[in-house]
Amino acid sequence: MAMNRIQFQTGLSLPAFMAQFGTEVQCEEALERSRWPQGFQCPGCGHAGHYVLKAGRHKTFQCRSCRLQTSVIAGTLFQSTHLKLTLWFLAIYLISEAKTGLSALALKRQLGVSYPTAWLIQQKLMQAMAERDALYTLSGNVQVDDAYLGGELTGGKAGRGSENKVPFVAALSLSAEGHPLYVKMAPVPGFTRKAIVNWARDDLSPGCVVLSDGLACFAGVVDADCQHQVIIAGGRKPKDLPEFSWLNTVLGNLKTSLGGAYHAFAFSKYGTRYLAAFSYRFNRRFQLDTLPMRLIVAAVTIGPRPEAWLRQAEASC
Ligand SMILES: [Zn+2]
Repeated sequence: MAMNRIQFQTGLSLPAFMAQFGTEVQCEEALERSRWPQGFQCPGCGHAGHYVLKAGRHKTFQCRSCRLQTSVIAGTLFQSTHLKLTLWFLAIYLISEAKTGLSALALKRQLGVSYPTAWLIQQKLMQAMAERDALYTLSGNVQVDDAYLGGELTGGKAGRGSENKVPFVAALSLSAEGHPLYVKMAPVPGFTRKAIVNWARDDLSPGCVVLSDGLACFAGVVDADCQHQVIIAGGRKPKDLPEFSWLNTVLGNLKTSLGGAYHAFAFSKYGTRYLAAFSYRFNRRFQLDTLPMRLIVAAVTIGPRPEAWLRQAEASC
């Protein structure tokens, strides 16, 4: 496995990060630049003319046209936060740099905050990752497999029918040379044709060539204008097939990540977000030095995601 390109990247050192984002002013300026790369634009009317007010903790703008007041954090993932921005930025750094994921408990210890606060920071940032990756679809050649959170994958004893066992589709796109490009890990209600059609319409570009081991439901990708190719497995699972070696490697990494960093969590409720966090990092594995800044952009791009919303968002999964 040619992993050296990843492991020997320069990355962004903690001292370098702190030099850039070690003060509240630096963090505010970074948020402002990320949110309005071309300069302030009123979220109400789009006007660029503004006054800067000296009200409150955060830099606040007043539109010269419609007079709307907006702080630099209003309307972003950081809206209404009582935490210092330097703490948020440090969390972004730690989560970005953690090779196999970072548990809320580890985040609590490293940031010196309470567990509920660490949990909320983690969930919000994972949500930003999920929404960012949801903008993209896989294209070209895509390997797929059926997998479970809480079942065989994580080594738990949850058996068939366990409430904490979540089926998900693991999909990996490959270059023309057969090298891995991007992954998507998406929980599905079950491995039915209908579920796969819906999944394929969300996560695949039309024209994909989907390679599976022939599980009946995957034939549904043709309804999403994709082609379906079957590797005759002869009763074997993709993990025993050389054609699926990259996908198996990625699933192995996921297993390590979930087992090592996250331990047990409510798979059925938060599975999408943990899978998305893993995928987000995998999909940017060649850009480790810019990962924290990319996550900051993702966080200011999505709106506020309050705790009540985060806790119920996946209840239907
Ligand atoms: Zn305005």
